[in-house]
Amino acid sequence: MAHTPTAASPLAPDWLSLPEDPNALAPSVWPRNAGRADDGQLLIAGVAASELAERFGTPVYVVDEDDVRSRALETREAFDRSFAAIGTTATVYYAGKAFLSTEIARWVTAAGLNIDVCSGGELAVALAAGVDPGRLGMHGNNKSLAEIDRCVSVGVGAIVLDSIAEIERVADAASRHGRVQPVRLRVNSGVHAHTHDFLATAHEDQKFGLSLETVDEAVALIRGHESLRFLGLHCHIGSQIFGSDGFAESAARILGAHARLLAGGEIPELNLGGGFGIAYTEADDPTPVAELAERIAAIVASECARLAIPVPVVAFEPGRMIVGPSTVTLYTIGTIKDVVVTVPGSGEPGPEQEPAQTAVRRYVSVDGGMSDNARPALYGADYSVRLANRVSQAGPALVRLAGKHCESGDILVYADYLPSDVAAGDLAAVPATGAYCWSLASNYNYLGRPPVVAVRGGEARVIVRGETEADLLSRDAGIGGES
Ligand SMILES: *Cc1c(COP(=O)(O)O)cnc(C)c1O
Repeated sequence: MAHTPTAASPLAPDWLSLPEDPNALAPSVWPRNAGRADDGQLLIAGVAASELAERFGTPVYVVDEDDVRSRALETREAFDRSFAAIGTTATVYYAGKAFLSTEIARWVTAAGLNIDVCSGGELAVALAAGVDPGRLGMHGNNKSLAEIDRCVSVGVGAIVLDSIAEIERVADAASRHGRVQPVRLRVNSGVHAHTHDFLATAHEDQKFGLSLETVDEAVALIRGHESLRFLGLHCHIGSQIFGSDGFAESAARILGAHARLLAGGEIPELNLGGGFGIAYTEADDPTPVAELAERIAAIVASECARLAIPVPVVAFEPGRMIVGPSTVTLYTIGTIKDVVVTVPGSGEPGPEQEPAQTAVRRYVSVDGGMSDNARPALYGADYSVRLANRVSQAGPALVRLAGKHCESGDILVYADYLPSDVAAGDLAAVPATGAYCWSLASNYNYLGRPPVVAVRGGEARVIVRGETEADLLSRDAGIGGES
């Protein structure tokens, strides 16, 4: 092809630099066991991309099982170590909403993690996996009475209460079942964090939790019920957070309330939620978990010392950090279009009006899209892409990886460089698709949700099968009717 630039495209975002090698796999973004075979193919845990595509079709989510297991273990060990050093223990819950199947539930519990669920469906998956209900936490700002009843009756370890009304609902269910239900209370600390910044206000405008001002009243209500046992406060300040400043501010605020509430009885623990960020592109530089655990432990220790209170057990709920980097989505490339576009900001009226500049944006379309990864369309999330079936010596060309849905916002990767000889029939691989991709998948345009394939030690196996056309038609009550 003619389009072989050797300079960065004027359409490339500032954070994206022209790669020396558009075949290279940045270790921060790819699963731990990903690499290139001698023939240039992408290998994940010893299984070649073209073999995966042939056996399971595309799109397919490929999960590096040992990546998940090792991150789960390292996360638990990091929190164990740092909190042992300040004289307490840490409990780690895997936030199942990121990516949950019975297999994944078993991998993370085998690594010593508990699991958080936030609906009857997620609870059913965890129970089907054989997870001890005592190791489950139940979240949600609007749990149904049926969900509450099931949690209490199976013996879920903790229900996170999200409103005053829910205190009564859970207390009722517990007394009906003759149980004492352990509960946490979700507090809105007024800290909301995303990536590098956090916003701290007295009153945050959102649906989750109770404000710090109403906590004393709510905890008194909880303590007034014999069917409830108060475990402690809970807060979760956001997602894809880098660094520890947001957690520090939030922990300090919550510990203030925790200390005040100790006057009314014991409080065994404090739950600081999840939200730890991962690398989606080479430009992302998340803090390693060991460092995060150490910094947060140091803050908890110093705040407890300042308040002259015992250090509680501290719980965390990472989701993305455990599963996000483990998964690569493989697609087959179809239509490729070079679209001439006006470079943003060029040709604007001004003292020295310059002519509008144009550049080519290459749209590379694949056989999936926003139905298997909604995050770019939903949040403008950035991802990266590489060729999976081969490497190429051709120079880098800026591409936009698009899906096949009837929606112009159906983009998977807004900007990355691929070898300029990318062609129909090539396989594209998008890394870091383990969290909030399969779990957010839809059947938009009646695409079947892709299978989830686990790879380990050169072997591949389906852990969730893909949807067939029969699945797609199976719930349509009108099939077979008269026209
Ligand atoms: C979503 C969520 C988490 C997990 O967030 P990650 O960003 O995946 O770590 C943890 N706790 C609560 C309450 C959540 O809503």
